[in-house]
Amino acid sequence: MNSTSKIYLDKSALENNFKFLRRIFGKNRIISSVVKGNAYGHGIREYVPLAENCGINHFSVFSSKEAAIVKNCCKSDSTILVMGMISTDELEWAITNDIEFFVFEIERLLNALTVAKKLNRKAKVHIEVETGMNRTGFDLEDWQDVCDILSSNSEFIEFTGLCTHFAGAESIANYARVLKQKKNFQKAIKFFEKNELKAKLHHTACSAASIRYPNTRMDLVRIGILQYGFWPSKETFIEYIKNKKVKTDPLKRVISWKSEIMSVKDIKEGEFVGYGTTYLAHKDITIGIVPVGYAHGFSRSLSNTGRVLIKGKRVAVIGIVNMNLMVIDISDIDDVKIGEKVIMIGSQGDMEVTVASFSELSNQLNYELLTRLPHDIPRCILDK
Ligand SMILES: *Cc1c(COP(=O)(O)O)cnc(C)c1O
Repeated sequence: MNSTSKIYLDKSALENNFKFLRRIFGKNRIISSVVKGNAYGHGIREYVPLAENCGINHFSVFSSKEAAIVKNCCKSDSTILVMGMISTDELEWAITNDIEFFVFEIERLLNALTVAKKLNRKAKVHIEVETGMNRTGFDLEDWQDVCDILSSNSEFIEFTGLCTHFAGAESIANYARVLKQKKNFQKAIKFFEKNELKAKLHHTACSAASIRYPNTRMDLVRIGILQYGFWPSKETFIEYIKNKKVKTDPLKRVISWKSEIMSVKDIKEGEFVGYGTTYLAHKDITIGIVPVGYAHGFSRSLSNTGRVLIKGKRVAVIGIVNMNLMVIDISDIDDVKIGEKVIMIGSQGDMEVTVASFSELSNQLNYELLTRLPHDIPRCILDK
């Protein structure tokens, strides 16, 4: 059975983005491709092999469930890192499969140790320290206990990483907080060193930090949104092009999302369109029905405000976005037939509709809109 829309991943755009990132970060720094949230909606299964094709061999996810999906589609020598949830009964699977994971609770550290001993295998842990985000991470008063456990169990626990995460590096409003976090992380490095412990990798930077604060890059950068061709915030983009004195966006969007017209009809002036009274035809108009609605990830908040492309022109979503369909005004486009392509994200001719433009309209972040794209929409690779 056909799906009512399809998502396309542009291989050459991804190659462009990794080339750009590699140039910024240098040859020797590890780029961990963050593929949580179903690879920000791109689809883990399709995305991971594409990234590997660009030389990426390190992937970060939120949960053990996502780690298992990556494991099933990645090369055998790629590294997988769980930054969030992994339950005690999944530790055996993780350690057996060399899945690395963040540790921010003494309990998780001790459980990992128990399982590693049982398996007679090393657990590869990344110790997350609290530096000021106040989310996950060991507080200062736990550091000594962590050090003691690591020191006395080095044959079962590999100290693979020492890490932290910044609270909003995408906005200059958080500048002072980020600086304080950087200082606190240096303090953590020194504390562990005083205990004769040095992690193989120090890492702190997400996309925004890696661009704005070069000395947060350290041994590994955890790159989510940038690799997909989006900036973490408009502010980050503007600052980048200003500093580099470039005029065009060095990133290319990887994703596009397309459907087609399901029905066409003429509406008389003075009629309401769709549920309720939110849209009144102020003249005779022609509408097209697109079989994509909020159940497919096209946010209801785009009612009467969203834009899509058809025949290379930008047209308006009118009325309320329904569960499974939306109505667009095609009065100004000649000769639209059933089956005509409709682009919700992507470009056609010279025109583009981006997630960024829609999320400004609907006040959602790119992150949210992308990750809400349902898993069951087929992902197709565009390989030109
Ligand atoms: C999501 C996430 C990242 C990546 O964030 P981007 O802003 O998309 O680059 C990095 N580190 C952690 C801990 C994360 O949760």
